[in-house]
Amino acid sequence: LDLGSFTHPSISQVGGKYWFYEKDEQSFPGQSFGLEIEKILHHTHSKYQDILIFKSTKFGNVLVLNGIIQCTERDEFAYQELITHVPIMSHTNPEKILVIGGGDCGVIREVIKHVEMGTVKEVTMVEIDDMVIKLSAKYLPQMAKFHNDPRVKIIIDDGFEYLKSLQTQSNKYDVIITDSSDPEGPAEEFFKVNYFNLLLNALNENGIVIMQSSENIWLNINYLKNLLVNAKQVFHNVRYLQCYMPLYTSGQLGLIVATNDCQNDLSSPQRSLPADKQSQFKYYNSAVHQASFVLPNWANSLLNN
Ligand code: SAM
Repeated sequence: LDLGSFTHPSISQVGGKYWFYEKDEQSFPGQSFGLEIEKILHHTHSKYQDILIFKSTKFGNVLVLNGIIQCTERDEFAYQELITHVPIMSHTNPEKILVIGGGDCGVIREVIKHVEMGTVKEVTMVEIDDMVIKLSAKYLPQMAKFHNDPRVKIIIDDGFEYLKSLQTQSNKYDVIITDSSDPEGPAEEFFKVNYFNLLLNALNENGIVIMQSSENIWLNINYLKNLLVNAKQVFHNVRYLQCYMPLYTSGQLGLIVATNDCQNDLSSPQRSLPADKQSQFKYYNSAVHQASFVLPNWANSLLNN
């Protein structure tokens, strides 16, 4: 591989090979996840962010926004399935689903499974950057296979502004999935108390929200604790769960799920998947749903007390 004159702050040459290193001095000082590059597929600056897509030697194609890995073809299913199926399977009648962010279209691919099972009736995705959708359609075709599907309404807008606009409308959702990038950049507003207020306002009674927390118990447990405190100012029933996968720094990513229905034990699914559909799920099943909420003692006492 010869990158010629191409340079990128996250790419270094080591022993004659090119490596992508995910570095973030604020979120994970002193550690970095690296992937060997087979080929650079695309690099551009959209209106909102730096977008890099490369083929890695072991993890397939990789989408990177502002230097942070969003997904790899090899392990994306773990995150997409957990963030989608936990709230939908925890809801008794999830008919209307809103996805905020989600430009790689992996979450809507998972939501469509529930449309095909007859549970979900309406899917809307609000993504700020249409360039992410277009590039995912080209370079992550298995993730973005429903980017142009008439069953999904895609709105190109700032998710925060979209939720604000709902304050004067009666349009509400049963499940809202925030599949955003990390707080540095256009997703900054999603990690503040006001965002939880906007989410609550956009939910039907007993609705459920879930978001990626951008951190995990190993990287920055205090940040997570604060995020949970913010969520608890608005929602009475807030839980932390974790997803295991190599690509996120430290090998796992935390999610926050919340509802104002205090009778709902979010860690137990309300339904089981039909036997003939189970083969469509590579990560998610009822036992994984429950186990994702189980924390080691030190993390449990810090986060939940
Ligand atoms: N699974 C990923 C992760 O956490 O690493 C997130 C994937 S998805 C690619 C994140 C998307 O959120 C991006 O496409 C980004 O453009 C979008 N996004 C960021 N800020 C946004 C905002 N304010 N409104 C809507 N979408 C936003």
